[in-house]
Amino acid sequence: MKKYVYLFSPNNVYLKKNMDNILGNKGARLIEMSNMDILVPSGLIITTDVCIYYLKNKKYKNEMLKQILNYIKKLEIITKKKLGNEKNPLLVSIRSSSKYSMPGMMDTILNLGINDKSIIGLSKYSNNEMFAYDCYQSFISTFGIIVLNIKPELFHQKRDEYIKRNKFNKLTISDLKMLINDFKNIIKNEKKIDFPQDPYKQLFMSINAIFNSWNNKRAKLYRSFNNIPENIGTAVIIQEMIYGNKNYSSGTGVIFTRNPSNGNNEFFGEYLIKAQGEDLVSGSKTPYEINSLKINNIKIYNELTTIGKKLEKYYKDMQDIEFTIEDNKLYILQTRSGKRTSKASFKIAVDMVKEKLITKKKAILYITPENIKKVLYSTIDVNQKYEIIATGLPASPGVITGKIAFSSVIAKKLKKCGEKVILIKKETSPEDIDGMYFSDGLLTSCGGMTSHAAVIGRGMGIPCIVGCNDLKIDYLNSLVSIKNKILFEKEEITIDGNCGNVIFGNIKLIESNIDKNVKKILSWCDDFRKLKVFANAETINDIKKSIEMGADGIGLCRTEHMFFEKNRISLLRNILFSSSKNKRFISLKKLLLIQKEDYKKIFLLMNNKVITIRYLDIPINEFLPNKSVIYQDFNYFDNKNKIILKKNETIKKIIENIDKMKEINPMLGFRGCRLGIVRPEIYNMQTKAIFETLCELYQKKKINIHLRLMIPFVNDVNELKTIKFNIQKIATSILKRYSLLEKISYEFGTMIELPRACITADKISSISDFLSFGTNDLTQTTFGFSRDDTSKYLSHYLNKKIYKNNPFVTIDKEGVGELIKIGIKKCKLIKKNIDIGICGEHGSDPNSITFANSIDINYISCSPFNIPVVKLICAQLNISKSNNRSYLNKVNKRLIYVNKRK
Ligand code: PEP
Ligand code: MG
Repeated sequence: MKKYVYLFSPNNVYLKKNMDNILGNKGARLIEMSNMDILVPSGLIITTDVCIYYLKNKKYKNEMLKQILNYIKKLEIITKKKLGNEKNPLLVSIRSSSKYSMPGMMDTILNLGINDKSIIGLSKYSNNEMFAYDCYQSFISTFGIIVLNIKPELFHQKRDEYIKRNKFNKLTISDLKMLINDFKNIIKNEKKIDFPQDPYKQLFMSINAIFNSWNNKRAKLYRSFNNIPENIGTAVIIQEMIYGNKNYSSGTGVIFTRNPSNGNNEFFGEYLIKAQGEDLVSGSKTPYEINSLKINNIKIYNELTTIGKKLEKYYKDMQDIEFTIEDNKLYILQTRSGKRTSKASFKIAVDMVKEKLITKKKAILYITPENIKKVLYSTIDVNQKYEIIATGLPASPGVITGKIAFSSVIAKKLKKCGEKVILIKKETSPEDIDGMYFSDGLLTSCGGMTSHAAVIGRGMGIPCIVGCNDLKIDYLNSLVSIKNKILFEKEEITIDGNCGNVIFGNIKLIESNIDKNVKKILSWCDDFRKLKVFANAETINDIKKSIEMGADGIGLCRTEHMFFEKNRISLLRNILFSSSKNKRFISLKKLLLIQKEDYKKIFLLMNNKVITIRYLDIPINEFLPNKSVIYQDFNYFDNKNKIILKKNETIKKIIENIDKMKEINPMLGFRGCRLGIVRPEIYNMQTKAIFETLCELYQKKKINIHLRLMIPFVNDVNELKTIKFNIQKIATSILKRYSLLEKISYEFGTMIELPRACITADKISSISDFLSFGTNDLTQTTFGFSRDDTSKYLSHYLNKKIYKNNPFVTIDKEGVGELIKIGIKKCKLIKKNIDIGICGEHGSDPNSITFANSIDINYISCSPFNIPVVKLICAQLNISKSNNRSYLNKVNKRLIYVNKRK
């Protein structure tokens, strides 16, 4: 016959391990502790199978009922007490026990079995009538609230009435007796039933309530946010009551086997004398530190610490243990892995490896991406109240409080006064780059996860929120209205780039802290990951940060970002829009020198490492000047040049040229290799700058790098051939000029970011040494979404569950993912060992990293600050290949939550 109920007691132990599926986490731990000869109050567990059956049929099978009743009898024999008995009553607690901890479900019911008769036995047993009647009133109200769904206020108000009536603010025995009657009346009035005196009725009504609570709103919501399956049900634990509140030789407490805030290997916890667990939880009494138990009761203290060590050794993790003492006898009520701060997580994992308690692999699995983010970025101190006034897309993590600036000029001014600055814009463009560099946080009302602000914010490693639609910016009056609030320039706000919340005013933060334990775990990750982790970085600061974060190389150096500074944009604009040949020529020359300086600094930092330089890829709109800066821009040169300008062109002509370049859909326009083909002088200048710098550095300092040249936005092999021909010609001539043809090599490759490039990847790879999937543009072009404009409709899609995830955050496996697989397959037909990577913003998303780890690629390239998280996830995926799913469920909690809200 199938087993539906399990009994546990010191003399009757069921010896099977890993039964979380049917007994739930709490239940399985109780049985395991019994197996270890640790004293737990005896009890029984009704399995999840019974729950699943009950929820479907709203009744039990006969054999289920039989087993429950049978085991209750056994419990009575073991405890030598009887349910509802007047002389020697058995009282039990009743709890749910699901496989995954679910705070959204129902609370514990204590003292079940108490009635008008058994109260007499309880008074005698405890030698304390007051205690017994207190248990009774408390049980009736809990039963009324949890099992019968009566409003808690009705019971609380009644109790308060009695307390107020009494001059000592304490209930007397006669108060308690009257209160019990009043509580029974509340049940009668509200539910038209008598409070059940029959303990079996109490029991089954409570079991039903626990099973039904599996489907309550809170529990369902919690499961959906945490990816817990709907169909696994919960077990029910029925356990003999132990009274920590019986007398002064009794008590209750909680210990952690290590310090949960700093990870130190020392017992940590607190306890109360003559109290029950809820007194500790509710904070109604001030507990003592666990160390004082050493003085007050060394025997119990020693027992407790021995059990703590035993459990830690068995479960190979820091334990959070609940205990109760009754008449000087110690019972363990629950053990589970203890929650800890991120700092403590790293210390505990490293210490446990040193103590040979766990392996390095296990230590890596103990760390979550959240842990890393919390030590890498500042976070909000949650022990404070704060007001969230809006929510946008969390584009770059970290939290910052700063003063609002609506323009680069004010950002710069505030920064010079030593203030922290948050730049608020509708959207950003290269025009704002100065201001962005002076800012400590970015907030935009439009744009998506791959918009300009998002990419730059991530690259700079500053908190950034984009697409915050509730922001109504009034540049004219220098104010922003957010719902019913109006904030002026220089007022303080806080942005939380970890989850996208915009918070009113100034709040307390916890600063980042990368200590030696964090570094150790990350160095262990390097031993277990399969994928290389490169950085998307182009500025000197970003590249330095990438190296500090342990990047294996640079997988995407977006050269257009090197043109963002004011004087460089002007030069580029001259090249693109000026009709004066001379001016274009001078500007190109100037840019060549600037680029050479940039490359020099980069190559010096990247000696012997991979650096993938992507040729200019500007959606033209990002570089089109607005009318107010045209005059200033095109008079940029000194007086001499101004004369040239006056002779050869007029502002009108320039505006005409700019207007000609304007596009209706710049994201699909004259960008990437298209510009490189039609205006080859720009790519030629870039090639010249790269190779001349490399040759000079090689000759002077013996610096060499693993150079990769990457062409963007390619859809046909012939585009690539044309550009490759030009690059080869220039590179060969420079290398020959420096006599370094034999010494300096380079690889030529392309981004695969258009569906046609995926489909024709065999042809494209025939002339490529490496490929990198640009998943931002590939998502844009596969979905037909403009990547900068999705905030207007994507949130509706996500709310209506048309899409499960934001495809610009999490790779769409069915569409984009399939195209990537086709691309890889086609390419591998031609070149088996070609290096393939992914360099879109998806490189920082756990689900997308899992996808990347499961296909035939060699590297992921992500923003510098995400490197540690990506390394961790890559290592964890390789270590726990067999159970990726459950691992991911854990790590994605918050991200999934955030995506669902968007
Ligand atoms: C991409 O499209 O995924 C990519 C990395 O290029 P960018 O974001 O610069 O267009
Ligand atoms: Mg792209």
